[in-house]
Amino acid sequence: MIIKEATFISSNTTVDKCPATDLPEYAFIGRSNVGKSSLINMLTGRNKLAKTSSLPGKTQLINHFKINDNWYLVDLPGYGWAKVSKESRDKWQKMIKTYLQQRKNLACVFLLIDSRHDPQQSDLDFIQLLGTLGVPFVLVFTKTDKQSLNKTQEAVAVYKKKLLESWEELPQMFFTSSEEKKGRDEILDFIESVNAE
Ligand code: GDP
Repeated sequence: MIIKEATFISSNTTVDKCPATDLPEYAFIGRSNVGKSSLINMLTGRNKLAKTSSLPGKTQLINHFKINDNWYLVDLPGYGWAKVSKESRDKWQKMIKTYLQQRKNLACVFLLIDSRHDPQQSDLDFIQLLGTLGVPFVLVFTKTDKQSLNKTQEAVAVYKKKLLESWEELPQMFFTSSEEKKGRDEILDFIESVNAE
């Protein structure tokens, strides 16, 4: 897919204010610092489309971008900040759950995982939530340039084993490096194929 146009549409604190569900949408989420903004900017080829994570305590926003007048890319607020209050965690949980339940046009969630880390409980909990709500999702292992291919393969093997403890099938997986511009075509082709379904 060629990205001809990538336009910021809106930032919202509640799902009911999000744009009309007239186009399929693809949401990106993950722990803070996982490389979400860098990935969104790499995918769209726009250096500053997604802003790097706002600090904990700042307003958590659902950001909509329109791509090629054909689909929405959604930048969801990250999770896993070390020092956030229970109140703000609960608020995030409620917002995200409502988003996942109510966006009729949500075609797929891209859950970003740092390829260098062991499975984190917050990611496993989020996968569980996606499963419970029946939301289609794929995994994106980020920052693969930061270690050898062997190390990434080892980390992914650990992840797969962990997932197979509670899932019969594994989700589709992508491997990216925003630094080296890797994984872009694979993700955009995937979106194109889902859009064509
Ligand atoms: P976000 O908090 O998930 O939006 O993460 P950012 O995109 O802001 O990235 C967090 C940090 O990781 C920044 O310092 C980025 O430069 C760095 N980073 C993001 N993606 C990559 C990558 O693919 N490779 C490397 N080496 N660094 C990355």
